[in-house]
Amino acid sequence: MAEDRDHKDINGPEDKPLRYCMICRRSEKDAGTLLALPGGMTVCNDCLQKSMDTISQSGFPGFFGSPDANGMPDLSKLGGFPGFGMVNLGSLQPGKAEEEDSKEKARKEQEREEAERKRPFPPVRDLKSLPAPHRIKAALDEYVIGQERAKKVISVAVYNHYKRIFTDSMDDIEIEKSNILLLGPTGCGKTYLVRTLARILDVPLAVTDATALTEAGYIGDDIESVISKLLAASGNKVEKCQRGIVFIDEIDKLARKKNASQRDVSGESVQQGLLAMLEGSNVEVPVGASSKNAMVPMVTVNTRNILFICGGAFPDLEQIIAERERMRSPMGFGAPLPAGPDEDPDILMKVTPEDIRKFGMIPEFIGRLPVICPLRSVTKEMLIEIMMRPRNAILRQYQKLLALDEVDLIFDESALEAIAEKALERKTGARGLRAVIEESMLDVMYEIPKDDNIGTVTITGDYIRGKGSPLVTIRGAGKLLDKKD
Ligand code: ADP
Repeated sequence: MAEDRDHKDINGPEDKPLRYCMICRRSEKDAGTLLALPGGMTVCNDCLQKSMDTISQSGFPGFFGSPDANGMPDLSKLGGFPGFGMVNLGSLQPGKAEEEDSKEKARKEQEREEAERKRPFPPVRDLKSLPAPHRIKAALDEYVIGQERAKKVISVAVYNHYKRIFTDSMDDIEIEKSNILLLGPTGCGKTYLVRTLARILDVPLAVTDATALTEAGYIGDDIESVISKLLAASGNKVEKCQRGIVFIDEIDKLARKKNASQRDVSGESVQQGLLAMLEGSNVEVPVGASSKNAMVPMVTVNTRNILFICGGAFPDLEQIIAERERMRSPMGFGAPLPAGPDEDPDILMKVTPEDIRKFGMIPEFIGRLPVICPLRSVTKEMLIEIMMRPRNAILRQYQKLLALDEVDLIFDESALEAIAEKALERKTGARGLRAVIEESMLDVMYEIPKDDNIGTVTITGDYIRGKGSPLVTIRGAGKLLDKKD
């Protein structure tokens, strides 16, 4: 009786024994309905899909024959995978998988065509197709506002990096790797700059956050997970991955902790762990999965030609620079005092590797990021341009949305200024723009489609500051009369 009760408690009211996925060991309750395979095996949908993906990607043509039109393995041509012979994935989930697959394919194809159309130059494949730095910068100019020095520095560094890759075996003068360190306050465009760069060069990019990384064996992501992400972004193609870009954000959070009494598993030791990878080493990573386990095959990726770009806000670095400048300046009564961080907004431009070491980065780490590139905080003028000028500028997006309702959306000058001022108050750089605009535009986007007669909407500074309504112009007197009737 007691046994009976125990049994019921575990298995729930239906009194049916719980089934477990043979791969991830999750119960049916957690993993959803399990699929029964021949031989009494049960497996959850996620694991089945993962296994199929892994096997088909890792080139075991003999197993499943060639994939069908939807990229699914042809199980009827099975070459020797015991127990899977009679399974037809399609029949397990009739229609659904195929439908999702073709949607996904169509989406990818559309994205690819779109990217192809927007590309300023053909994909970089060899020395000949490598665009000169001024062309890289011109392409960046279309998207990234201001940050002239950073765009110049990064264009030259990237040009040299790919030159180095393409001339690798020509002689024995080895060009050193030009990994980059981007410094600048939050929302000044560090990530955006790198993303734009990868897109215009058509190289795979992995963006990762240094705060998630911990020393191997501790809770958090292993350092190799960075390369796993890049491999995934390269469609699991090792060759492509080995020429990609890795952006590690929030690198300043790895600074050596002062007075740390415990082992520093997420700071200095991660810096140590990253050294070999930044320089160039062989890293073993799982294919098609984010963690290593017995089910996934591993590949070796060489990081020698991967461009590493690290970014961080480095708060209080200005103080360190100002302090150093003060020490260097002439002493004595009457000697001019060098500007402190408050007086000199461009003080970050004077940064040296020594300042970064003082901040808490270890010298070996700084040594592997030879290109140091400070970015400026965004100004009101930059914010106005960021809203309006780039191809995919946020205001253009709203204008396009309302144009579909045949309504012209105009932002007058005072509106642009008011939005920029409000965004500056948030102290999150250009990141604040979207929030401010979305807040203000909610009512407009809700009300305007209600009335077919509206032809033009003008957003004013007063409206953004919450002191009035947008100015609305009606399409034509004729239509207005219609409405009155
Ligand atoms: P961070 O410096 O913190 O990495 P991001 O690059 O993520 O900042 O910037 C946030 C958003 O702000 C970007 O997605 C981009 O739309 C916009 N932005 C920031 N700086 C610029 C810039 N200089 N030019 C154009 N857009 C920018």
